[in-house]
Parts: sequence; C-alpha cells; structure tokens
Amino acid sequence: MHVNVVLNFDPSELVDTLNWSSSGPHVSVRLQPFQSKYLAALQQRLREYVDAWIKCGVRQDGSEAPGDRSHDRVIQLAVDPSGTPEELMLANSFGFFCDTHILKINFPLGSKDPTLEVSPQEAKPHTHVHQKATSLVVGLLLSDLRYRIAKCRYEKCGQYFFLKGKAREKVYAHGLFCSTRCNRAASAVKLTKQRRGRFNPMVIAWAAELLRQQKNKPGDGETAKRKLLQIGRASCRERV
Ligand SMILES: [Zn+2]
Repeated sequence: MHVNVVLNFDPSELVDTLNWSSSGPHVSVRLQPFQSKYLAALQQRLREYVDAWIKCGVRQDGSEAPGDRSHDRVIQLAVDPSGTPEELMLANSFGFFCDTHILKINFPLGSKDPTLEVSPQEAKPHTHVHQKATSLVVGLLLSDLRYRIAKCRYEKCGQYFFLKGKAREKVYAHGLFCSTRCNRAASAVKLTKQRRGRFNPMVIAWAAELLRQQKNKPGDGETAKRKLLQIGRASCRERV
C-alpha cells in the first residue's frame, strides 16, 4: 500500500533559521513574526541537529561524502563512547517528533491513495523550541534534501546552503564550501598554516638572531629584515 505523507516542511524556513543573524541587514519575512530570543534558541537547537547530521557524512580524512549520511550512522556515532549529546539528541529526534505531533490518516473517496497527515500538537512553552527544531530537522531527514544540506567549511563564513546536482554520488575531498571565494580563502589559510608548520622554531630563532646582529650593516634591506624578525617571533610564540 502506498501512503502519501503530508508534512508541513519548508526548506527555506530551515535555511533562513540556520543563517539568521540578530545583527544582519534584514530578517526574512518568514521569520519576522518570531521574537529574537525565540529565534536565537531555535537556531541553536537546529544547528546542533544539522551539524550532527552533516558530521555523520565526514570521513576520517576530512573529506565529505553526503551519500554516507544515514540515520543508522547517527545512531552508531551516538552510542559510541566518543558520541556527543547532539548526536544522541539527533538519534532520538524521530521518537520526540512522534511524541509531539499528531498523526491523522485520511481516506479519500474514489481510487486515490490515503494520506497520512502530520501536524504539531499544542506544545508547552518550554518544549516549543525543541518541538519546532525537531519538526524542521525531521522534515529535512524525510526529504532528499538530507543529502544536499551543507555548511560552508570556511571558518569566517559558516553559511548553511543546499548543494546543487547529484551531491549524494559525490565525495568532496576538501569539504563543502558555499562559493569558490570561500574555498580559495580556506585553502590560503590552510597553506599558510602548513608553511608555518614546516619551519623549525630553532631555525627561526637562529635566523632572527642573525638578522638582529647584522641589522646595522650598510646596504641591508631593513624593512624586509624587520618583517622577517616579526614573523620569526610570532611563529616562536605560537609554539609556546
Ligand atoms: Zn562560505
């Protein structure tokens, strides 16, 4: 028997809530009726859910394979000794969803398939945020968007977005980025860290000392030396 499930899930509401900022230039029309305090709490809970979901598709080498994401994988991670409270919460999200929603079966006249309608129960104020976040994340997990939801890996961005195309079949070696610009910026940061990591602090200290001793020799490029000294000192400090 085929049953159509009717669930009030709006993907734009999910992404708008995840990316909402109290100091942003505008608030989406969709989110306007809600108070900032409510939105902040909702966003926090929703991010915990979505981050745990995205994490279950990250491989050990740091690459991301959206096709690896599954509810079974979430349960596996949650019961592991290193499992986080967020993973445990996500693993239990379907149970909480059923406890806080009403299921109604409609049998239409004629040969049409029956429908299963899912709507939220009236919630107590302290469970309302959790109920709404769970409702949005369960809506996400029941749709194909579960393979397309992504978070930009560039630390200074962190925007949530939906991947285009057949994300489920791809492996993203360097992780997911919202734009080429963020991808390039993150690569530059990574390269600088790697380059600094290759320097031996002893060699840097030695080079800095040598430059300090020679700084009064005529014909030396003082600016370049000063810069090198600064880099050397900063690099040594990073390692303390
Ligand atoms: Zn980005």
